[in-house]
Amino acid sequence: MKQEYCLLCFQDIEEELCFTDWLRQDALLCGNCQRQLELLDIRTRIDGLPVRILYKYNDFLENMLYRYKENRDIALRDVFFHTHIKEINDKYRHWQIIIMPSSVEKIQERGFHHLKEMLRLCKVPIADPFIKKGNRKQSMQCPKERLKISQYISLEEAFHANGKSLLLIDDVLTTGSTIKHAYHLLRAHTSKIEALVLCAHPLFVEFCDKN
Ligand SMILES: [Zn+2]
Repeated sequence: MKQEYCLLCFQDIEEELCFTDWLRQDALLCGNCQRQLELLDIRTRIDGLPVRILYKYNDFLENMLYRYKENRDIALRDVFFHTHIKEINDKYRHWQIIIMPSSVEKIQERGFHHLKEMLRLCKVPIADPFIKKGNRKQSMQCPKERLKISQYISLEEAFHANGKSLLLIDDVLTTGSTIKHAYHLLRAHTSKIEALVLCAHPLFVEFCDKN
């Protein structure tokens, strides 16, 4: 169904929309809002894990994520992967998606798992096999603290990849430590793992090896 108003600023959806988006008639954000998303679509590696980064974590995306996750504006859930969901469904249709963990407290507080909702139109099977204890915010910790990540994120004992390749998905990549830890926990379960993140911190983007 065609969206009439921008889900973010409530302007007419056709406001400043570029011609291709206007033709597709499936925009969720108006042209003014879309232009504030900084598409990167770069590939890098973390400890050998291929990682694709879609956007730069700029003020606009930070505010949009805050409104969605902390102010629980669930209407925004389809916006984040909207441009890439078809490609994900096609390219990874035989894969298994693994979402990065959210603590039980956060899920209860929000009433939803932010990544599960962001990916609700995804046709690839989604698993959430990690257990996250406590609610520690990565970006608030000093590097030494982050090293202890293995103490609060673990993999369910019953997890099986069933011979499938795994695509790890997260919304914000700050240092890469969560996804790196997840990769190490899953490595023994399958031969192929890749990661896709919605956005990465500008500092991470600046210093990572792009390929
Ligand atoms: Zn807008």
